[in-house]
Amino acid sequence: MLTGKTALITGSTSGIGLAMAQALARQGVNIMLNGFGDPDEIEALRAGMEKDCGVRVGYQFADLAKGDDAAALVRRTESEFGGVDILVNNAGIQHTAPTQDFPLEKWDAIIAVNLSAAFHTIRAALPGMQSRDWGRIINVASVHGLVASIDKAAYVAAKHGIVGLTKVVALENAQRHITCNAICPGWVRTPLVQAQIEKRAEAVGGTVEEGARDLVREKQPSQRFVMPENLAALAVFLCTEAADGITGASLPMDGGWTAQ
Ligand code: NAD
Repeated sequence: MLTGKTALITGSTSGIGLAMAQALARQGVNIMLNGFGDPDEIEALRAGMEKDCGVRVGYQFADLAKGDDAAALVRRTESEFGGVDILVNNAGIQHTAPTQDFPLEKWDAIIAVNLSAAFHTIRAALPGMQSRDWGRIINVASVHGLVASIDKAAYVAAKHGIVGLTKVVALENAQRHITCNAICPGWVRTPLVQAQIEKRAEAVGGTVEEGARDLVREKQPSQRFVMPENLAALAVFLCTEAADGITGASLPMDGGWTAQ
C-alpha cells in the first residue's frame, strides 16, 4: 500500500533512522537518505538498500544545523523523486552537562539539529503534501520530550519543543489526510548514547557492558534497550491507512520509563 511513495529520513546513515529507512524500503517506499558518515560506506548502504528492496534510494548531504540546508534537502528530494510523502525528522545529537556549565555552542547546536531542523523540513514539505492531500510526518522525539533528566537542558528543551511542534502541525492539517506524530524512545543502543555509556562505566568502575546495564536499569523498567527495528515497525505502522486517525500523538516506546 505504501509502494511508490517517497520517504525522506533525516539522520538515516546510522541507528534509528537507518532502521526506519530499511523498514520503509522493504514496504516498497523510495528513500532519500541523509546524515553524516564516510562517503564510501554511505554509498555501499545506499546501493545495498536499493538492490535488496527493489526501490530507488538516494542520498543527499545536508548539515541540519543550518536551516537553509534542511529546507534545501526537502526541495532536492522533491525534484529527484517527485515529492516527499513521508518525512521522518530523526537526526539528533546529544551533550550532557549541568546547566550552569552547559557550553553555549552545544546548546545552539542541539536546538538547531534536534528542533529547528524539523521546523524547516516540515515547513518545506507541507505544501507538497497539502497539494496531494496525503502525508505522514514522524518526528523522532524521546522520552525526554515527555519527562526530564539532569544534565540534559538542551536535549530536553529541544525534545519537549518537537512534541509541541508535532501537535501544532497535526492540528493545522487535521482535516487533510496528513498526520504528524512523535515517537518517544527510551534508551536505544546507538552511537548517540555511547559517550553516556562510557561515562557511566567509568563512574561505576566497571566495563562498558556494566555501564550500559547500569544506565538502562536506572530509568527503564524493562532493563532492556529498545530495538531500532521495533521503532522502525512503529514508524511503518504510522504510515499506513490504518493509522489515519492517529495524529498529534506522542507515542512512547520506552520499556515502561514514562509509566513510572
Ligand atoms: P545516531 O547517532 O546513531 O544517529 C544520528 C543520525 O543523525 C546520524 O545519521 C547522524 O549522521 C545524523 N546527524 C547528526 N547531526 C546531523 C546534522 N547536523 N545534519 C545531518 N545529520 C546529522 O543516533 P540515534 O540514537 O539513532 O538517534 C536518532 C534520533 O533518536 C535522535 O533524534 C535521538 O535524539 C533520538 N533518540 C535516541 C535515543 C537513544 O537512546 N539512542 C533515545 C531517544 C531518542
